[in-house]
Amino acid sequence: MEKIKIAIQKSGRLSENSIELLKECGIKVTNGDRKLKTVASNFPMEVLFLRDDDIPQYVEQGVADIGILGENEVWEQDKNVQIVEQLGFGGCRLSLAIPKDDDYNGVDYFNNKRIATSYPKILSKFFDAKGIKVDIEALGGSVEIATSIGLADGIFDIVSTGSTLIMNGLKEVETVVRSQAVLISNKNLSPIKKQLLDEMLFRIKAYKNGKGKKYVLLNAPNEVIPDIVRILPGMRSPSILPLADEGWSSVHSVINDDDFWEIIDELKRHGAEGILVIPIEKMIL
Ligand code: ATP
Ligand code: ZN
Repeated sequence: MEKIKIAIQKSGRLSENSIELLKECGIKVTNGDRKLKTVASNFPMEVLFLRDDDIPQYVEQGVADIGILGENEVWEQDKNVQIVEQLGFGGCRLSLAIPKDDDYNGVDYFNNKRIATSYPKILSKFFDAKGIKVDIEALGGSVEIATSIGLADGIFDIVSTGSTLIMNGLKEVETVVRSQAVLISNKNLSPIKKQLLDEMLFRIKAYKNGKGKKYVLLNAPNEVIPDIVRILPGMRSPSILPLADEGWSSVHSVINDDDFWEIIDELKRHGAEGILVIPIEKMIL
């Protein structure tokens, strides 16, 4: 049977989450001896382990059918591939930074300045759109030291916590784009591979929908049920089941982790009892 070939990062920030995502989709992959290639045991899939920089090109050429990598790399390489899904991990931002003691009052600061970056395409698009002329110094890595060695006036790089910037005497002054890991696809998949991709997407969405959500069950006297229903958002509306105990009902619903404690407090204040909270593994909408 035809297999779909997926390229993921061999070793780096996205590797673990990429394998984890496949696992959550019920696709078992082992790469014990760090091979370049492996076959999933229970899904028609071949997994290629590559450098993230090589993934867009391989997907464009059809060496791999689909791939997982950072949006930033997809934008920068600008290959003829399709972004099919944002995956919710590998989040970061691409920002401009300048020496920490320099005054900054807007992007005009960068007029005629030299900026070092590994993302020259994304950066020149940003300044072109603003009509600002800059001198872009394309570097392969270690961008953060460019100002201290006198190579550039500022830098444009990936930031997550900002501690690297501080260590290099820099301050972040503009966030240009935000990025996360995405699933990309070749634009001419065979019908069978297209079907396999759709199956995978269905599973990815079920996983993403369940992530960050909890299933809540509680008991409450019938007279407060309307209040309880108002507090619980739910997928549609909560399910309400009568209890053997007359005058009482059981309410089932789904809530976001973010609102969790607030909602539980509200529920208690309105008379809910026996509140049970259960993690959700998958959610098919
Ligand atoms: P490779 O050896 O595969 O070329 P790399 O050094 O280019 O690896 P990593 O540093 O592993 O790449 O980063 C991979 C991706 O992880 C980035 O392109 C970006 O999308 C994402 N990412 C998330 N947070 C960060 C961060 N703090 N620094 C760098 N990349 C990050
Ligand atoms: Zn890379």
